[in-house]
Amino acid sequence: MKAAVYRGAGRLVAEDWPRPSIGEGELLLRLKGCGLCGSDIAKIVDPTTKVPAVFGHEVVGEVAAVGSGVSTYAVGDRVVAAHHVPCGDCHYCRRGSESMCAAFKASNLDPGGFAEYVRVPAPNVRHATFRVPPQVSDEAASFVEPLACCLRAVRRARVQPGDTAVVVGLGSIGCLFVQLLKRAGTAVVGADALSDRAVFARELGADAGGTLEVAAKAQRELSAGRGADHVILTGGGAAVLPWTAEIVRDGGAIHYFAGGEGAALPLPLETLYHRELTITATYSSSPSDLAEAFGLITSGAIQVERLITHRVPLASLASGVDLMRRREALKVYVTP
Ligand SMILES: [Zn+2]
Ligand SMILES: [Zn+2]
Repeated sequence: MKAAVYRGAGRLVAEDWPRPSIGEGELLLRLKGCGLCGSDIAKIVDPTTKVPAVFGHEVVGEVAAVGSGVSTYAVGDRVVAAHHVPCGDCHYCRRGSESMCAAFKASNLDPGGFAEYVRVPAPNVRHATFRVPPQVSDEAASFVEPLACCLRAVRRARVQPGDTAVVVGLGSIGCLFVQLLKRAGTAVVGADALSDRAVFARELGADAGGTLEVAAKAQRELSAGRGADHVILTGGGAAVLPWTAEIVRDGGAIHYFAGGEGAALPLPLETLYHRELTITATYSSSPSDLAEAFGLITSGAIQVERLITHRVPLASLASGVDLMRRREALKVYVTP
């Protein structure tokens, strides 16, 4: 079969890769499509990433073969399947840190979503695979995983109705946050240097949007001068942190959703302590986050299809990566 294989030094090549064979409890999917995620790009630009590798974890596929013992899915079913699955029973899992579970980190779709066929291991089949109903498109279904990650972040940030939240970075993830935060009853301000992204965020429900400067002013007005209860960073990394500390209210919270350039937090501990600030972060999502995200997408509560601006075949994955890195694409959807 063909796969988009990462060969190091930023190089992605469409080449032959052994088609996975499946065992007991597993599924083989014929790829229908896979979203390109910022975390895939982070691996592509990271010189320590092991090669060869096949990325992609926002997978929609059609069941092509069913392993023995699988009775819940049949050949021809359209499903979304998540990449990582926790054990559900370790110290981490029992305390809600499912994405820190050893089994979670060890599990993955084989070889990854940027391939014609994908093996879904048995735990993923049991706990993190969802049958897509006919009214939901492949493209919409591919958002279950990223939306689940955003839901987890909104919960961990302890967002409450009446809060004011600033979303920094209005890529596809920022657009999901805008919608989830509005549903949570907050006033939402989007911040992005690209003006068309701020306009789009307003279409999706943001109360205000614009550059950092515009966003800072808007959140002050919306919060009666207190400052934002929450700042959610989907991009920009450590460089934006001093700005977030300026606009967050005393006692407010800053949520790191993405890694980023700059390994250290340039924040005086004195500020953290005296102002009782909270810094939260979330990594990936749990099976219950995925189930909730699946429900929001199948019910049409969150607009996702509009976020896909570019579609590329597997063989052109590299051009999709370039579109994302240049911030021309909001979301790239990869098809076989
Ligand atoms: Zn993702
Ligand atoms: Zn566990």
